[in-house]
Amino acid sequence: MELYDVTIIGGGPSGLYSAFYSGMRDLKTKIIEFHPQLGGKVNIFLEKMLWDVGGQQPIQGENFLKNLIKQAMTFEPTVCLNTKVTNVERADDHFIITTQAGETHYSKTIIIAIGGGIYEPIKLEIEGAEKYEMANLHYTINGKERFRNKELLISGGGNAAIDWAVELLPITRKMTVIYRSEELKAHESQINKLRDAGVEILLNTEIQTLNSNANKTKIENVDVCHNGETRTLSMDEVLICHGYNREVSLHFDEAIAPKQNEKELFESIGQCQTTTPGIFAVGDTVAYADKVYLLVGTFNDAVLAVNSAKKYIEPDANSYAMVSSHNERFHEKNQKLYAEIHS
Ligand SMILES: Cc1cc2nc3c(=O)[nH]c(=O)nc-3n(C[C@H](O)[C@H](O)[C@H](O)COP(=O)(O)OP(=O)(O)OC[C@H]3O[C@@H](n4cnc5c(N)ncnc54)[C@H](O)[C@@H]3O)c2cc1C
Repeated sequence: MELYDVTIIGGGPSGLYSAFYSGMRDLKTKIIEFHPQLGGKVNIFLEKMLWDVGGQQPIQGENFLKNLIKQAMTFEPTVCLNTKVTNVERADDHFIITTQAGETHYSKTIIIAIGGGIYEPIKLEIEGAEKYEMANLHYTINGKERFRNKELLISGGGNAAIDWAVELLPITRKMTVIYRSEELKAHESQINKLRDAGVEILLNTEIQTLNSNANKTKIENVDVCHNGETRTLSMDEVLICHGYNREVSLHFDEAIAPKQNEKELFESIGQCQTTTPGIFAVGDTVAYADKVYLLVGTFNDAVLAVNSAKKYIEPDANSYAMVSSHNERFHEKNQKLYAEIHS
């Protein structure tokens, strides 16, 4: 049995910064993440420009995430991807964490960093649609350039769909937006930008069939149902923004279940400690007065939770980590970095 000091459930921003800080406090650390990649919800807005992260010049989500992951790996935590945690129970002086695949992980403390749970885009319920996901069917944008000079069909009428439409408008050759309801649900000002640019917006319209090209490698055109009639739309790329499904799969044995509020957020009794000793919560999944549900808030929570975990494991430890200039964990790394700067 390999026992960790800290196991972080969830590899989003709060989990990643917890992993870094946990290493800074010399704690043996593991991150468990359901998705095949780290980053949590930032993966939804990789192209977005972030202006509100302290100490950062405007930075795209993708680059912000690269930095965050690199920092999280500073002290080489163990990382388990594609792993869904389903249950936590206590055994003597540690916790047993069980995954959907039936594996078990052992840890003295747990940091819950699950955000709002596992987010996955709502996909088209059209048989065989998944085979086009490697070609020209998209549920998120991983690089705007592939849409340059293309004819783009966007399905969706909420903020995500319309924001993407506005963002991609300057580089696409032609754009059509379809939505199943009678009116778009996004911000008026954004909708007006599309209208002013003459974008075709078809309401009461839903995708019926994805028609493939001759060798069935990509979608050639799309049949939609528009006001009850079938219409064929030409396109090069299809972007589906139908929202996200949220799944909360994490359960605790009744005897150790931390208290959750009516929104299923874990209540902090101070310093990001839950009502169960040894279990801490950070980021979008924790609730306390004046909590900030933004990236900056996740970092503050991570520091509080890790310091609490350190004190839980070693009651005589300092309440806070040494700042980086005086922290032994950075001594050797700093020598290397200074040498690089001066070479
Ligand atoms: C569209 C959008 C735009 C945003 N823009 C900004 C912005 O401009 N500035 C800003 O500061 N904030 C922004 N935010 C908010 C910011 O993204 C969140 O505050 C932040 O991602 C919260 O991080 P987190 O780690 O707590 O949760 P998440 O990012 O949700 O990460 C949680 C992770 O836990 C994993 N997980 C969940 N359950 C399990 C399980 N049982 N087992 C294993 N893994 C599990 C999930 O797969 C996920 O990777 C935005 C959010 C959205 C949705």
